[in-house]
Amino acid sequence: MSLYLKPSNVMNTYFRIAIPTPLRRHFDYLAPTSFATEKVQLGVRVRVSFGRQTLIGILLDIVQETDVPAEKLKPVMEVLDEQPVFDSELLQLLRWCAQYYHHPIGEVMQNALPVKLRQGATTHIKGIKRWQLTAEGEKVEPQSLKRAAKQIALLSDLKKTPSGLFDSQLNESHVGWRPVMKRLQEKGWVTTIEENALPVAQAINTAPLLNHYQQQAIDRVNQKLDQFNAYMLEGVTGSGKTEVYLQIIENMIRQGKQALVLVPEIGLTPQLLDRFMKRLNGRIAIMHSGLNDEERLQAWLNTRVGLADVIIGTRSAVFSPLLRPGIIIIDEEHDLSFKQQDGFRYSARDLAVKRARDLNIPIVLGSATPSLETLHNAFQGRYETLLLPERAGNAEPPAIHLLDVRSQKMEHGLSAQLLHKIKEHLERDSQVLLFLNRRGFAPVLMCHECGWHALCPRCDAHMTLHQKSSRLRCHHCGTEQYLPSVCPQCESKDLLQMGFGTERIEQALTELFPQFQVIRIDRDSTRRKGSMQKLLNEINNGKKQILIGTQMLAKGHHFPNVTLVGMLNADHGLYSADFRASERMGQLILQVAGRAGREEKKGEVLIQTHHPEYPLFKPLLKHDYSAFAKALIEERQQTELPPFSHLALLRAEAVDQQSPMIFLEQARLLLEQHIQGEVILMGPFPALMERRAGRYRAQLLVQANSRAVLQGLFASSITQIENHKTAKKVRWSIDIDPLDLL
Ligand code: ADP
Ligand code: ZN
Ligand code: ZN
Repeated sequence: MSLYLKPSNVMNTYFRIAIPTPLRRHFDYLAPTSFATEKVQLGVRVRVSFGRQTLIGILLDIVQETDVPAEKLKPVMEVLDEQPVFDSELLQLLRWCAQYYHHPIGEVMQNALPVKLRQGATTHIKGIKRWQLTAEGEKVEPQSLKRAAKQIALLSDLKKTPSGLFDSQLNESHVGWRPVMKRLQEKGWVTTIEENALPVAQAINTAPLLNHYQQQAIDRVNQKLDQFNAYMLEGVTGSGKTEVYLQIIENMIRQGKQALVLVPEIGLTPQLLDRFMKRLNGRIAIMHSGLNDEERLQAWLNTRVGLADVIIGTRSAVFSPLLRPGIIIIDEEHDLSFKQQDGFRYSARDLAVKRARDLNIPIVLGSATPSLETLHNAFQGRYETLLLPERAGNAEPPAIHLLDVRSQKMEHGLSAQLLHKIKEHLERDSQVLLFLNRRGFAPVLMCHECGWHALCPRCDAHMTLHQKSSRLRCHHCGTEQYLPSVCPQCESKDLLQMGFGTERIEQALTELFPQFQVIRIDRDSTRRKGSMQKLLNEINNGKKQILIGTQMLAKGHHFPNVTLVGMLNADHGLYSADFRASERMGQLILQVAGRAGREEKKGEVLIQTHHPEYPLFKPLLKHDYSAFAKALIEERQQTELPPFSHLALLRAEAVDQQSPMIFLEQARLLLEQHIQGEVILMGPFPALMERRAGRYRAQLLVQANSRAVLQGLFASSITQIENHKTAKKVRWSIDIDPLDLL
């Protein structure tokens, strides 16, 4: 089908446009007068007046009929592009998204565009400034600079990156780099170049000799490159999955095709990029939130015209325009960050599979701990399984043990056994990683005299005590208060700090092991730009021996000298209201365990629990994720939960308590009228935490055994729900295939 449309009679021609509004519909406008003489392609941006605003929309269609009355029709003000910003493949994908996720098409389209294009920027490809060493600078030995530590660091990094560094990269890794760079420039050692925004990868490092499993996985994928095929690459942590991706991508580049690589938000680390840059030959487009809008735009534009050979990005990169698509790879496919949790709630993983199918190209879903959905697809034969059962190189998997802490004397949340082990490993010159999924000092502050609790004024939740900043902070809405010195209710000074957060463990460990250095990695300690990189450097150059952190530390990192991993509390996931909690707990345990003993030294993992009898621990202790997952899949089958049924969640919130429930009750009535097939409606119920950030929240869960039935139900009722008068009093949303039900 050609999208190229000939000019015709402008008077009876209407542009059908996706406009970024919360309404689930498109809008018709009169064709612009220029249309009489100029061709216009579908997928271009157009400027229109909308109410009192001027907005930028996407041309979906050109039609000869409209049901908008003639007196209400307005002309399109301007066509912004000659070449469409979305080609027919993306346009179709986005239309499908709007339908499948029942989300307003204008918002869907806007979501897929770089911010600058949403604002009307031109699609002109520009050069972007990069910093590079001059020939003179190449000759300088960084260490010869002696006392100028910042110059040494910059110079070394520039040396490592012959293609040059962008401002945004420098912001990430060198706090306050500008004056230092200026000094280097004055010495004639660095210069700026402005050229194509995409860094060029150069294979400096050679590939390791592949083991049998890696080779087999690569061969299987490379055998059938010209058709859709989904592969689940299940490889224990450190089994060399990244190496497999690299070689598949290498082959793609040789064939002149593009590889799209999606990684979790936390996975797009400088180390990973460095690895790609040093093993591949080609242009690499990087799409992540650390880029500024201009860099992001240029990466996108370059990709669109086919200049990028490899596109590496987080969730939203699934919408990258691909001129010569070859393969899609998703790393850590189980990761929750692939699901957008607000606004247009899509799953980048699911969309990637859909897109690969439409493009008729292969897709690889890699993980040490695949999601149950993906495993189920593999068990059903819809995905091919590629296994990497062993760690690559010489590293052995760590031994995992439970520490039964029932009735044990605990010191700051640490059992005597764990403390003993920490000491043992530290004395062997190894590093120790402790994991606790709770930041701050203590999760509860309570008065011993009268029982007062520090509660968030805007949420149904406790305020977390942050001692370093002397604040109470709500982790749900961000509200902050000064730490009271006396009980606000009875003025007693006897305030109890209950429970443990990473800050408190950090303090305790510093006291318990004064001869060692403790480092904390969580959202609080990594808030500033570049701080994460700094902390990781301190870990890898051995300056810090004890690492305490939240799940930020659990994923992807390679700490060669960590031999002991301690999980301070594994019990959150065991008996939770969320049916996915045990799946996540198992994934977390194995991912955390994956940080131990990644090189020569053997690793050990200790898990503190009050429920050592919990049956699903057994397979995990043996690193048998498959057995663990099979047990959970059976449980899901018996309880008819996903992937054995399909869910949608309607959420509503308002400043008053009644409106969300009233709206959802009406929504339920409307849904009931349209049910065709087996559907279960649950609720509406108030959310588990009913009040958050000053708003009351409620939800209605819809479950169906068939996806088609669920889709049909919303397709026939969503407009009525949207237009219902009770909808005006709430903020509401629909979440198809929700991951978070609470
Ligand atoms: P994963 O992505 O599965 O965690 P990586 O690809 O990061 O695994 O590999 C883990 C470590 O093993 C890395 O240091 C990598 O360089 C190394 N490695 C990978 N494949 C091999 C191999 N075939 N031989 C030796 N070392 C390897
Ligand atoms: Zn009190
Ligand atoms: Zn709050």
